[in-house]
Order: sequence, then structure tokens, then C-alpha cells
Amino acid sequence: MEQYICNRCGKKHEITPTIWKCTCGGVLDLVKDTPKIDAAVWNRYPNSLWRYFETMPFAKDSKTWESVTMGEGQTPLIVLDPQEPNTYVKVDYMMPTLSFKDRGAAVLMTKAKELWVSKVIADSGGNAGTAIAAYAARCNLACDIYLSDETSPNKIAQIKAHGATIKEIHGTREDIAAAAQRAVDEENVFYASHVYNPYFYEGTKTYAYEIYEQLKGVPDALIIPVGNGTLVLGAYYGFKELFENGLIEKMPKIIAIQAANCAPLTKAYEKGEAIAEPVTNEGTLAEGIAIAAPARSKQILEAVRETKGTFINIQEEEILSARAKLADMGFYVEVTTAANYAGYLKYKKAPAEKVIIPLCGAGIKSK
Ligand SMILES: [Zn+2]
Repeated sequence: MEQYICNRCGKKHEITPTIWKCTCGGVLDLVKDTPKIDAAVWNRYPNSLWRYFETMPFAKDSKTWESVTMGEGQTPLIVLDPQEPNTYVKVDYMMPTLSFKDRGAAVLMTKAKELWVSKVIADSGGNAGTAIAAYAARCNLACDIYLSDETSPNKIAQIKAHGATIKEIHGTREDIAAAAQRAVDEENVFYASHVYNPYFYEGTKTYAYEIYEQLKGVPDALIIPVGNGTLVLGAYYGFKELFENGLIEKMPKIIAIQAANCAPLTKAYEKGEAIAEPVTNEGTLAEGIAIAAPARSKQILEAVRETKGTFINIQEEEILSARAKLADMGFYVEVTTAANYAGYLKYKKAPAEKVIIPLCGAGIKSK
């Protein structure tokens, strides 16, 4: 049986439908050994992120995912500009709900279905909420999504279309998360959190597996936007599994991008601290990474440091010009994704360095 382990105190917990953090307040990880990767079995699965099913913590004979999947994953890896042949974009907005969050949501909701839950609650800047709402509908589960009353109307419309109940909260992302967590505990339901539930990272880790197959190897650096660290941690775990299996000879550097107006992780990184102290969000267009108090800051900082990566802050005025530049090359992305590209433009890349930039969310999701 799978178990959770507290990242703070080391206490182990049974996996139940309602547990979402340790009694000490720490976040939970999965107790697991590095999976033994057998790439020969991948072709037995559909061409989606479920190719890597056997690296995920499910019973080998489990078929639950087959009724949950909408074909998510295996997104294109494209050279962005022929003048820069070593820079690629991974077009993760080509997903069922138009953002990379489907990677985590598909896997997390498969787990929720296996736990026989009847209702899920999530809080979100928008994309995770959309993904959870869609997969909850697919699993026939009741779903409440807590989000800011300033969330893009396009995302709200998308969530409502899936039959989820919207709980609009006036406040910070931290206020919204707290409201969702109170409801989870009061109603005793499943917290489908892309931050707290480690199954979500079992989904986002497939980002690394796909790159490994597409490049037939490992890139030198990954540019990744970071708020709560959903993709940073997933990519890190995925490449680490490949590394520990001897399939790649090094880890890619993680270059994490934050909005200067809300950059607790950059601050902690520069001060050499192990965890990030909360900051005040001074306001940023990049709503997807506007996280003032990231719950997994310790793990994010470890991942960036261990890969010899770094943090880069971007300014508000750099975001919209980056968005326009991407659109000039054919890619219409949402504002948070543009912030990530702005970070790439500031990164001092060596010419031969192979770099991958995720295009996390589709442009029509933004205002
Ligand atoms: Zn604990």
C-alpha cells in the first residue's frame, strides 16, 4: 500500500480520501522507491502521458486511468526560432483544458476515483481549477473550485461549463487556499490540490519523460515559471528518476522564473535560505505564479540548487512585450507563460546550450 510521509517531521500516514497535510502542518510526499524504468513497456500504452503509467504509484493492474484520460500529454517540442536551433518550446497548452495542469489533474483525479471519493475541492489561479473541474466531470464527481473574484472570466466560464461550483473569494491566493482548506475539513472531502497532493507531481513529472523521448536525451537547462512549483517539482522528479535509472548522464539546470512583484523564492535563494518567508504580492499580470507563500518552498529551493540552476525575476513591462514576441512567432500564450518567456530572454544562455521553455497555457484563457 502506498503511504504519505511528512516532508517536515517524517511521520508516515495512510492514504485516505481526506488527509491532505501532516498533523504538524507539514506537506506530504509519497513514500516510494525510485521506480525501475523499463522503456520497452511504454509502447504498450496509448500515445499520451499514460505511456509512463508503470513509473507512477498505482497498482500495476489498475485500469482506472483508462476511463479518466482525455489523451493528455505528448505535447510538441518545437524549435522556436530557426536562428536559435538549441532553444525549444514545449507546447503544453495543447492539452484538453489548454494548460499543462492537465498532466497533474489527470493523475490526481485517477487517484481520487480509486479512493471512491464523492466530492473534491480545489483552489486555483484558474488553470488548475479548470483542469480539476474537467477531470472531476469526467469522473462524475462533485467539485467546488475556490478562486479569486479577479480571475479571468474566460477561465471562470470554462470551469462553470464542467458543472463545478465556483466559490469566488475576495483576497490573496493564500486567503483563497485557506477558504478551500476550511471547507475541505468541514465537509470532510477530498482536497484536489495541485500544491498539497503529491499525486499531482506524478502527473507533472511526465513533462520530463516526454522531453527525454523527444530529445533522445537530456537538455542543458529548463526555463520554468514558478509560483507553487507544480512544474518545477514535477520536472525535477521526472529527470531525477531518469538519472537514477542511468538513462541520462546529468540533470538539467532548472532556471526558475518569478514575477519581481511577487518573488519569495528568488529572495530566499539569493539570501541562501532553506525556506521562503512569505512576501506581500505587489500585484502582477502573471496570475498563475502570484504566490506569496509557497507551501513547498523548501523542495523548490532544493531542486533549483541541486541542479545548479538559478532564479530570475521579471518586471511587469517585460511580460506583455514577451507575449507579443511569441505571438509574432505564431504562439499565442496566456500572460503567465509570457512571463516565463521574458525570463528566458534575460537568461544568459551559452550558444550551444540546449534549453526548453514550456508554453504552459493558451492565450485565449487570459483577459
Ligand atoms: Zn509532520
